Amino acid sequence: MCDGRIDVIQTIHEAPLEFCPWCGLPIRRIVSRAVIMLSGTVPDDKTSRKGFTTFRRAERGVWEKIAGEGPDLLAGTKEDMEAVDAEKTPPKKVIDLDADSD
Ligand SMILES: [Zn+2]
Repeated sequence: MCDGRIDVIQTIHEAPLEFCPWCGLPIRRIVSRAVIMLSGTVPDDKTSRKGFTTFRRAERGVWEKIAGEGPDLLAGTKEDMEAVDAEKTPPKKVIDLDADSD
């Protein structure tokens, strides 16, 4: 009843939800891809054995695979890049010196 799909963040260790928390109908889990950064330096063969794919930044918005089973290339779309730029630019704070302060 929830328009085909709902998003629920769960850890990989949690039992998948069997029923929709909103409408109560049966659901099944679809695991989404996630991009994470590991802290420190982990050998590529170790991450591959754990099921991760390691990418190296080739150019802006483009990452090439250096180890693992994943796709050879990750590339952001023009829209992705614009979204990233928009997030990096903090909204300008406007202070009106002529405004009356009570
Ligand atoms: Zn629902």
